[in-house]
Amino acid sequence: MILVIAEHSNGSLKKSALELLSAAKSLSEKLGGEVVAALLGQDLSGAASELAKYVNKVIAVEDAALADVRAEPYTTVLTNLAKELEAKAVLVSASKSGLSYSARVAMRLDAPLLEDVTSLDVEGGQVIASRFSYLARVTETVKALALPIVISVKPNIFPVAEASASGTVDKKAADLAASDDRVKVGEKAAAKTGRVALDEADIIVTGGRGVGSAEGFTKLVEPLADALSAGIGATRAVVDAGWRPYSEQVGQTGKTVAPGVYIALGVSGAVQHLSGMNRSKIIVAINKDADAPIFKVADYGIVGDVNEVVPALKEAVSSL
Ligand SMILES: Cc1cc2nc3c(=O)[nH]c(=O)nc-3n(C[C@H](O)[C@H](O)[C@H](O)COP(=O)(O)OP(=O)(O)OC[C@H]3O[C@@H](n4cnc5c(N)ncnc54)[C@H](O)[C@@H]3O)c2cc1C
Repeated sequence: MILVIAEHSNGSLKKSALELLSAAKSLSEKLGGEVVAALLGQDLSGAASELAKYVNKVIAVEDAALADVRAEPYTTVLTNLAKELEAKAVLVSASKSGLSYSARVAMRLDAPLLEDVTSLDVEGGQVIASRFSYLARVTETVKALALPIVISVKPNIFPVAEASASGTVDKKAADLAASDDRVKVGEKAAAKTGRVALDEADIIVTGGRGVGSAEGFTKLVEPLADALSAGIGATRAVVDAGWRPYSEQVGQTGKTVAPGVYIALGVSGAVQHLSGMNRSKIIVAINKDADAPIFKVADYGIVGDVNEVVPALKEAVSSL
């Protein structure tokens, strides 16, 4: 049996949960056993019934101590679940949250840990995975010699599972001890951008050095992104210049994204950038240099100055 930990936020499943389910499904076909998805948190009914459209069995563990993702209570609940269900593999997202508990769960289960994997296979009953190392300059193949195994899966690599199930939802108590609850989350000051998170966005507008300045982002990138309800991305050149935060960097040393539409404004298309966005379904590039490498991967391209093309594009989108 393969146990998947489904991440959710404000009552909705995260895209990574559906990616884990497709990774788990292909693993279960080779390793044997059914896929079971676990949801941890509070007030899970909405997310649980959504999840049941993708997998035959959902386990919802509700407890006030699980309302925020904290390594200690999550580790205890997941370890207990994995033991009780005799999981062969536990799949978590290699998100900041997932990485906060995956190694602890592996320790408690005395299980091998494969981290941040980009592919999964099984040979002779052993799980083999790929992952990037050395700032993604090297792709390693790693093999786990024992089961059970804990695997954290890199977001935006595996395809999103399709809704084809009408599964059951079982509720379970968290069964936590006081020693599982030693770190409290205090005040939360969330950045109020109102924009969709980069790794969840179905449309991304990314600005490169060709946007010119931090003000260029405010003048060109943000209005177009808002008109399209899109997330905002940036190249490393832009982040290094201090125009945008690192959380928006797309590429080898930033985030890997795979939206339906990726719009690159003034981005040259260096390999390190392409490796983070080349799984996007449709790529649109606007660059004044007709020979810019980004046009080699673009489905649609406009050769022109972003200062002229982007405002016109934004007007066209707003008038739809
Ligand atoms: C180990 C390593 C890791 C890296 N990781 C990353 C990473 O994660 N992500 C990343 O993005 N990069 C990464 N890089 C850097 C990468 O090699 C490039 O330097 C970077 O992506 C370039 O950013 P850019 O396209 O914004 O800038 P540039 O390469 O300077 O390109 C700017 C583009 O804008 C165009 N332009 C200029 N003015 C206009 C205008 N007015 N209108 C239209 N077009 C215009 C130009 O023709 C040009 O094509 C990494 C590099 C290394 C060595």
